[in-house]
Amino acid sequence: MCIFCDLIEGKIPSTKILENDNFLAFEDINAQAKIHALIIPKVHIQSFNEMTPNVMAEMTTFIQEVALTLGVKTDGYRLITNIGQNGNQEVKHIHFHLLAGEQLGRLV
Ligand code: AMP
Ligand code: ZN
Repeated sequence: MCIFCDLIEGKIPSTKILENDNFLAFEDINAQAKIHALIIPKVHIQSFNEMTPNVMAEMTTFIQEVALTLGVKTDGYRLITNIGQNGNQEVKHIHFHLLAGEQLGRLV
């Protein structure tokens, strides 16, 4: 269905960080910080626009587990989800970028 669906199915390789039945966290191939993870639901949802409260609630818990696994929960991190054309979303399978491991520049 999309490259992240292929990645979930193991058709393309990834460096996994954490996985459960419904979600996967893996390293971004083009890291924009010392730590740059991508967090996705295994079900194909195009963007935040199509997210449901139920999936979002479960994903919240999973993202917190990823932050713990990466050891960045206390020092802090940034979550970004790009949405649509103006948001510069390249891969049309919702993903949260988790950036961490250093002092990040201020965006907003
Ligand atoms: P976005 O612009 O928000 O859609 O982000 C897409 C992200 O996916 C970019 O940061 C890419 O570096 C990353 N990416 C694309 N293909 C792969 C891949 N095969 N493995 C890991 N990260 C990927
Ligand atoms: Zn997909």
